[in-house]
Amino acid sequence: MSTATAAVFARAGAPLEIREYPVLPPAPGTALLSLERSGICGTDLHIIEGRLAIPPGFIPGHEFIGRITALGAGDGKDALGAQLRPGDLAIACVAQPCGCCPTCASGETASCLHFGVTNIRSPDEAPHLFGGFATALHQRTANLVRLPDGLDLDAVAAFPCAGPTAIRAIAYAGGIRAGELVVVQGTGPVGLFAIAWAKRAGAQVVAIGSGSQPRRIALAREVGAGAVWDYRAVDAGERARRVRALAGERGGADVVIEASGSPSAIPEGLELLRTRGRYIVPGQYSSSGPVAIRPELITFKALRITGSGQYTIADIATYLDFVAAHADLARSFAGCITHRYRVADAVRAIAEASAGVAVKGVFAP
Ligand SMILES: [Zn+2]
Ligand SMILES: [Zn+2]
Repeated sequence: MSTATAAVFARAGAPLEIREYPVLPPAPGTALLSLERSGICGTDLHIIEGRLAIPPGFIPGHEFIGRITALGAGDGKDALGAQLRPGDLAIACVAQPCGCCPTCASGETASCLHFGVTNIRSPDEAPHLFGGFATALHQRTANLVRLPDGLDLDAVAAFPCAGPTAIRAIAYAGGIRAGELVVVQGTGPVGLFAIAWAKRAGAQVVAIGSGSQPRRIALAREVGAGAVWDYRAVDAGERARRVRALAGERGGADVVIEASGSPSAIPEGLELLRTRGRYIVPGQYSSSGPVAIRPELITFKALRITGSGQYTIADIATYLDFVAAHADLARSFAGCITHRYRVADAVRAIAEASAGVAVKGVFAP
């Protein structure tokens, strides 16, 4: 029997533990996949550092892209009804909305009140391999999305979580229209993908990033930002002046997307918007403390503020369609993957991700 290497979140605030588990055959309705790419997401860092109230005892990782090595009994159909076969590449989605709570009943399953996940499960329990930081994964076929043939694997692996997260938030806010002025706060994965998406929707996009992350600034330009302002070099007053100059008669941005995760971005977002502007907030992914805002701006500018923290499995398909439709972006997207690691080197991978060294780090074979 072969074994797989997994990085286990055994204790909050402690390094991941590298363990070996036997690779068992897939149960009915599931597939066994071997690792191709598995991204390290900011949420994983929040979990491992103990900043989210999720108790330890599982294999983190929710951005697993693998090759199907075996299928259990069952119809072998993916989440969207495509037939899966051994050898196919697929993205594993960990989300399991309940399907029957009031928000699920309203069709907004991305905001299920009783969200379950497939990866938070003890690896002591067979078949052990439930999380993404591993060289093999067991997943329900209903939680897989088959990758269309011919897609660049690294391009897909850049934003398998950040992309659908941005797509869902923008969809909740009614989309982005051609000619709109969009300000993206933050140039991490959610920000970079939002820039690419807004630009392809025909918007004029500017981004606010950090000059200490020159690679991210360059990528933001590459994927579609007309300008990227280093928030230290271009102060808030100057940023507001520049946005007003670009907006002309509108008086401010049509849309601001908060993708920095910094509470201090919120008061500025409210300032930069025009009357009836839309503030889209998918980026505040951990509790980083309170912030003072001017609430009267919400009233007097009649702002629309939309949060979103999850996505649906259909949003993953939308993400793949977007990557497929924009071959010109593939190189830039693939270029977002700045660091690759073996699962056995997960402790170093997490330390480097926490230090902000990588734009995007992935585990690969
Ligand atoms: Zn994620
Ligand atoms: Zn539900």
